Amino acid sequence: MSNLQSVRGTHDLMFDDVLRHRHVEERAFEVAKRYGFSEIATPVFEFTEVFTRTLGGTSDIVTKEMYTFETKGGERITLRPEGTAGVARAFIEGGLAQQTPLKFFYRGAMFRHERPQKGRQRQFHQIGIELLGVPGPQADVESIALGHHILTELGIAGTITLELNSLGDPESRAAYRDVLVNYLTARKDELSAESLERLERNPMRILDSKDPGDRAAVAEAPLLSEYLNETSRAFFEKVKTGLDALGIAYKINPALVRGLDYYCHTAFEFTTDALGAQGTVMGGGRYDGLIGQMGGPATPGVGWAAGIERLSMLLKETPTAPRPIAFIPVSEAEDAVVQSLAARLRKAGFIVDVGYSGNMKKRMNRADKIKAVAAVIIGGDEARDGNATVRNLTSGEQTTVSQNTLEAALAAFRQ
Ligand code: ATP
Ligand code: MG
Repeated sequence: MSNLQSVRGTHDLMFDDVLRHRHVEERAFEVAKRYGFSEIATPVFEFTEVFTRTLGGTSDIVTKEMYTFETKGGERITLRPEGTAGVARAFIEGGLAQQTPLKFFYRGAMFRHERPQKGRQRQFHQIGIELLGVPGPQADVESIALGHHILTELGIAGTITLELNSLGDPESRAAYRDVLVNYLTARKDELSAESLERLERNPMRILDSKDPGDRAAVAEAPLLSEYLNETSRAFFEKVKTGLDALGIAYKINPALVRGLDYYCHTAFEFTTDALGAQGTVMGGGRYDGLIGQMGGPATPGVGWAAGIERLSMLLKETPTAPRPIAFIPVSEAEDAVVQSLAARLRKAGFIVDVGYSGNMKKRMNRADKIKAVAAVIIGGDEARDGNATVRNLTSGEQTTVSQNTLEAALAAFRQ
């Protein structure tokens, strides 16, 4: 196989795809700014440890999905599989603990070595937020509300369900963990090899296993919600009443666990059945233990990430690109005057596409193809008299104007 083709699981973005993609990204950031978020752009690669320390040794990402390589200098580097670890690293490194609360929005490419299929790529893109330094449930509510607001602005909230759960505080989780391990140990024979391994290190991950044997074994497992202590219950209640007050509907899903040790309290996902198996468009939760676990000052945090490709697929229509004005020299003799007029109009803010070659018909066809709103045609007569013919490509109406007043003549076609 030739190596001059794209790597499996990667995609080129152009035409409609790129319009949809950027629309998601830009609208999301616009909305995030209304909530007081500012952008953070961390590097696309980090030392491998940034991810192994934060994501833990048993997560799918760390065990199977990371693109890791050794540099010529012998450093172990990983292409970022997700955004939170890099933001946490930047927070610690920048000594930002005194500046909390901090609200960060990010967007960019992520890399995971998984089996490519619809809505699942090896290089994909996320938008995401991290809200750092707020211990109370209002931060959870606001993060979810922002996610919901973005989906609404994109016109896709109607096809999406918010699933919600509480993972409790560390004390509740420790109590539940013991109960769960006991329960699953008694049903060890039914568990997959992978789950057997997790039984010791991260038993809660078994709850969201897709293996049929595991699913049967956990079907009647005790629920974490029954082991939440008073603090955890009160916290969860406040998140729910906060969402109720904002009119954001949710479905409690007791099986929704985000299996990393540092997650606590709120866990949520926005899901859809419009995308087949890849139904989760946005996922997040509270991660109060993360920054401490990375060696930083204990700092609570909550955030989410969403896949731009999956959101793009849900958009009902492709946003329209601004339409250019086609500048058309009739023959080579008019090239120079057209180029200088084009330069003048571009400086004034117009979108101008100059037809390079071919006969008049070819150039007009190109104007059609690029969806030009108008054509500015300059032939020998116009050039001699200092004029230009302006054709409205929607109505076909045509007028001759002085080149000196072209800005005014084209004002209606400005995009
Ligand atoms: P999944 O269960 O689909 O593998 P995940 O739990 O691994 O998702 P997160 O790590 O929470 O996903 O990432 C947040 C979002 O990023 C997902 O909800 C999804 O929209 C998107 N995403 C994750 N992995 C991919 C991928 N390989 N290709 C495209 N989008 C992805
Ligand atoms: Mg995954």
